[in-house]
Amino acid sequence: MTQSVLACLDLEGVLVPEIWINVSQRTGISELSLTTRDIPDYDVLMKRRLGILDRHGLRLQDIQAVIATMAPLEGAGEFLDWLRERCQLIILSDTFYEFALPLMRQLGYPTLFCHRLEVDGTGRITDYCLRQPNQKQESVKALKNLRFTVIAAGDSYNDTAMLAAADAGIFFRPPSTISQQFPQFPVTQTYAELKRQFCLAGGLAP
Ligand SMILES: [Mg+2]
Repeated sequence: MTQSVLACLDLEGVLVPEIWINVSQRTGISELSLTTRDIPDYDVLMKRRLGILDRHGLRLQDIQAVIATMAPLEGAGEFLDWLRERCQLIILSDTFYEFALPLMRQLGYPTLFCHRLEVDGTGRITDYCLRQPNQKQESVKALKNLRFTVIAAGDSYNDTAMLAAADAGIFFRPPSTISQQFPQFPVTQTYAELKRQFCLAGGLAP
């Protein structure tokens, strides 16, 4: 194992499908598929989502039951096993522990840094709590301070600060509009390509 290399991976779009889009499809509530591309202000978007859940009487346990029917992306589990044999690994995500749990179970509970929901005694989601602003970027900075060589991979706009802060940043299946804005990060489309980039950047064994 190369002890000094630490991989930071985004979750949605890299290891699992987009959670809100799947919840929207599986509940038939189309409004829930709104993303930061539709409403750029994350706080406005989250308040809107929580309002929609309330209107439809959806509690945390209902959403978790929907998420439990989702599966990681094909090949994600094998990719994580490959990576964990070669370096340390932390998943940095802007989702919530309460949502990610059913998917983390299927991935063998890798280390996950993300945010929390506030839930009342009936399961109603009353609010959300960001662990810290810009947590992906801040986590990478802190881990570099602990003398790890950080290699980060993500798929979207909310990953670009993390990719830039890391010693090496890699895109995985990004929308082309985003990868074109950040030509400094190599683009990968398969886990085999992603593995190759990790080997190149971190000197990992193939
Ligand atoms: Mg993502």
